[in-house]
Amino acid sequence: MTGLVNKAFRRSPVIDDADKKIVNTINNYVIPGVKSEIIEFIILSDSRISAAEKMYVYTDDEYESDLHEKLMRIWATKLKEAVKKGDFLFANDREYQSVRFNIMSKRYMREGLCRYCGGDFKGVLRKVCSECGRPKDY
Ligand SMILES: [Zn+2]
Repeated sequence: MTGLVNKAFRRSPVIDDADKKIVNTINNYVIPGVKSEIIEFIILSDSRISAAEKMYVYTDDEYESDLHEKLMRIWATKLKEAVKKGDFLFANDREYQSVRFNIMSKRYMREGLCRYCGGDFKGVLRKVCSECGRPKDY
């Protein structure tokens, strides 16, 4: 198998102990329940995902590539957790909702999802979100 194909099939990259500690620390971090801290964490996760994406794309080193792929996934999981908790605790809070929308709508659009809720689109000629029913507007 070529490197790329091999990589696509390898599910969890092997990383050394020092990097494993970093990954585990992020993974075990408990999302705070205070609004300002959740907002900060969402902003931090978003920038960490982008940094890891850049490293993943630009590095030629296979280890670095594996590591940043893993970091990307872990930060994305934590971001999802933080948004879930924030949505539950601060559903009607303007400040939280505004930060959440600014960050998540960009991420959703890059994945081709509904920018409002992250739902999948259905329909051929006129695409509509299968979760919230809004039309695709981008
Ligand atoms: Zn939607």
